Amino acid sequence: MKSYAQPIKRLIDELAKLPGIGAKTAARLANYILRATPDDVEKLAESLVEVKRRIRLCSICLNPTEEDVCHICRVALHLSSLRPTQK
Ligand SMILES: [Zn+2]
Repeated sequence: MKSYAQPIKRLIDELAKLPGIGAKTAARLANYILRATPDDVEKLAESLVEVKRRIRLCSICLNPTEEDVCHICRVALHLSSLRPTQK
């Protein structure tokens, strides 16, 4: 394997942790990031931080959501509350 400067090696190591990303693809992505504009790299980094800060798993169905309960489960809860009660 090539010898990379430490920051590049770190980036490749982090990218290689992603599912489906082997060492070769991680090196290719790192190369893309090295050549991207600072603005594009900042947008990518911010999107990673934002998704971890704002997105959680729905407490009912575990789908990603910005709320404690996702939109689909909120609708389902609402609909089930409208059902007439058994007499
Ligand atoms: Zn849900």
